[in-house]
Amino acid sequence: MMIPFLDLKAINLAQAAELEAAFRRVLDSGWYVLGHELERFERDFAAYCGSGHAVGVANGLDALTLILRAYGVGPGDEVIVPSNTFIATWLAVSHCGATPVAVEPLAATYNIDPAGIDAAITARTRAIIAVHLYGQPADMDPINALAARHGLKVIEDAAQAHGARYKGRRAGALADAAAFSFYPGKNLGALGDGGAVCSDDAHLAATVRLDRNYGSAVKYEHLRLGVNSRLDELQAALLVEKLATLDAGNRRRAAIAARYGERLAGLPDLTLPQVPDWAEPAWHLYVVRHPRRDLLARTLAAAGVGTMIHYPVPPHRQPAYASLGLGEGALPLAEAIHREVLSLPIGPTMTLEQADLVAAAVAAALR
Ligand SMILES: *Cc1c(COP(=O)(O)O)cnc(C)c1O
Repeated sequence: MMIPFLDLKAINLAQAAELEAAFRRVLDSGWYVLGHELERFERDFAAYCGSGHAVGVANGLDALTLILRAYGVGPGDEVIVPSNTFIATWLAVSHCGATPVAVEPLAATYNIDPAGIDAAITARTRAIIAVHLYGQPADMDPINALAARHGLKVIEDAAQAHGARYKGRRAGALADAAAFSFYPGKNLGALGDGGAVCSDDAHLAATVRLDRNYGSAVKYEHLRLGVNSRLDELQAALLVEKLATLDAGNRRRAAIAARYGERLAGLPDLTLPQVPDWAEPAWHLYVVRHPRRDLLARTLAAAGVGTMIHYPVPPHRQPAYASLGLGEGALPLAEAIHREVLSLPIGPTMTLEQADLVAAAVAAALR
């Protein structure tokens, strides 16, 4: 038995004809940056998310950074971030010259604990970034209410949550602005790097549109100190095709998650994902928790089951953030999660039979 953690090649080959036709469209157009393919993708993706505007950018980290820059976040400012996230959430804050202030997660969902945010707000706080980690929406209503009371912006890091819903509304339309990544392994993945900013705020969207292109709307007229962070025509054309199959892929992911939920229930010391009744996750990852996680991963590898760890070391324990002085024990909930989580195979081309084999291998390892 060999069940890969994620079979990206199979995912893209399943759409080979559409992707090849998209490539041909771009090749024949002779136009490769900021053209009709990007306009079409931005229209489609905004409509999909239920957001007023979508602006294509080069990657998810840039999407976050450009939102913060457009809101004027800079040196001396603080931005609240989850302690339990991929480091890009923090790096976006640092790249603006601001300071990430970490708030611990809820044990049940691994997402930022709204109750912990209040105590982290200071006179310097400008914004809160909520991450929909593993594709599960963060509890946005209390976060938005708190932000409104303090005059703060709320930004969704939706890099793992394409298509997820919170109380019926899609990720990307749940706060002031949202950042998406189209890194190949995400639920909506390009064949290279890509990202987008979604927002109902026309001014924010227009500012990001300027900033992604040297601060320019009219060639050689530069209104802001922008960067080069554009989603190219080829990736946009491929993403138009892949967006059309996102919901089907997410449905398969949900079916696999449900199957794991049935087959893995009650195994000793194994914690399964918990989904609040208002959440419809995109199931980017299926993350279980076990006190002897490394042994479980090794046993599964020996049985031919690919797993990964999201993530092995939290941002505050990375050498890059040594200057914050947050030692071991500073953020104990995030640290414990990083020691114990394991991501099982899940994806749009995986079968329920494969999920059963994975579940049987987990059960055999733990009994
Ligand atoms: C992937 C990811 C990012 C960064 O996206 P890139 O396109 O790789 O820059 C940011 N935040 C989270 C939670 C992610 O998973």
